[in-house]
Amino acid sequence: MPEVQVKHALAVLTDGTEIPIPYWHVTSGSEGPIFLITCAQHGNEVNGAEAMRRFIRVAEANLLRGQVYGVPMANLPAVRKRRPHISSGPEKPYGDDEGHNMNRTWPGDPEGNDTERLSYAIHEACAKEATHCLDFHSWSRFSATGCIFRTDSEGSVEMARVSAIRFLHPRPAPERMSTPCTLGALFNNSGRAAVTIELATQYTIVEREVRRGLHAALNIARWLQMLPGELEDLDEPQIDLEKAKVVTVTAPRAGLFVEAGWATGDFVEAGSRLGHILSDENLETVEVLAPVSGYLQTYGAHRADCDVALPAQHPYTSVGETVAAVAEGGMVGGQ
Ligand SMILES: [Zn+2]
Repeated sequence: MPEVQVKHALAVLTDGTEIPIPYWHVTSGSEGPIFLITCAQHGNEVNGAEAMRRFIRVAEANLLRGQVYGVPMANLPAVRKRRPHISSGPEKPYGDDEGHNMNRTWPGDPEGNDTERLSYAIHEACAKEATHCLDFHSWSRFSATGCIFRTDSEGSVEMARVSAIRFLHPRPAPERMSTPCTLGALFNNSGRAAVTIELATQYTIVEREVRRGLHAALNIARWLQMLPGELEDLDEPQIDLEKAKVVTVTAPRAGLFVEAGWATGDFVEAGSRLGHILSDENLETVEVLAPVSGYLQTYGAHRADCDVALPAQHPYTSVGETVAAVAEGGMVGGQ
């Protein structure tokens, strides 16, 4: 019978503070893959934590072989701050991380800065011995949920395929495989499979995204023969963004862009109404139509740093600002 335990990876920070990072450990009692699932390396990206909680319940009852590690709040101090990094302040861009972007710190460092110490604790507790990794992140709500994977890792390509996540973001191997690096790269550079799934919406936990994350994790575990059951929804089209043509839709006028109720990932026919602009000059309503048929890869008026600042999410658009992007073609798999 499978067994689940809650354990803690103990990080000791530079000032001596001890941070016990909780994680689930599910054992089957049989040899097999060791599947690591992580979430919230960036403290505002939390959809995957709930997807993982549900996945652990399934694994607890049904795990056939191997082990599962689930770390739902990897960057626990950043989660408690409700911000991307422990160094993040109000409206401070992600990139301005002062060495505290956790997903650049793997395998961590027990003598490093506080974030490197968190990574080190998780690496020692679970990442070191894991054979496969699913790392949940989140993009802003304006970008479609996507799966990022390395094309030089056959296992990673397969994990991305069976995830059934609509948008695939293939990445080539880096020119130099060095550490510190992302958690995914740490796995890939040592011949292990890993994917990153961006469950789009930050700061919030949204049922639709939780289901997508759970679905992907279940399919990966079935593909690894760790859970019983058939792979589901492999007939859903996936869009390879290396192969698709992404057509941006820009604002023809300045004013408020009003979305027409689509969601990212939806299929739109050429000519469909994507929304309209309420002109701030003469209050005219200007329709915005889909230029091609395809899947919505981005949707809604937004701009750089919308993941840390509310003004960047404001629907007021200048002329020429992108209000949507439609991915045309690039379909792989499916039926
Ligand atoms: Zn992230």
